[in-house]
Amino acid sequence: MHSALVLNASFEPLSIVSSRRATCLVLSDKADVVEADGAVFRSERLTFPSPSVIRLRYMVKVPYVRRAALSRRAIFARDDHRCQYCGGHADSIDHVLPKSRGGLHTWENVAAACRPCNLDKRDRTPDEAGMRLAKPCRAPRASAWVVVSVSGVPDVWRRYLPIAS
Ligand SMILES: [Zn+2]
Repeated sequence: MHSALVLNASFEPLSIVSSRRATCLVLSDKADVVEADGAVFRSERLTFPSPSVIRLRYMVKVPYVRRAALSRRAIFARDDHRCQYCGGHADSIDHVLPKSRGGLHTWENVAAACRPCNLDKRDRTPDEAGMRLAKPCRAPRASAWVVVSVSGVPDVWRRYLPIAS
């Protein structure tokens, strides 16, 4: 099943739907095809390029700033499965300010880490342990949920997604 990226009228990514659903939106004049995926839908009356990216003709108000849900998987995705201290393969989650010292389980206080670094750091801050984070821990930008929820983002979507590096 192909899926399509839905952009707001303002070109911000909104969600992912099936190509079939995307085609319905286009055929009912609610959206325009921005990128096709090369496949074709055939019905009795028409053939139609299967959409890969569509843009709504109207503006959808997003009532709140989306924040990606915090999960192990999402943290590994944000940090590219790299230990944020040594750059090795991360297989654990470090709380930058340790939980034992009041550190919260929030995007800003979690980092992917390898077990040796995690063990080495113990209940110290990076400063105290003489370790340095590769980058500050931040909540992924609004669109990162797309990256987290789909394995393998189609290349054609990339230019529409502010993928955090
Ligand atoms: Zn490490």
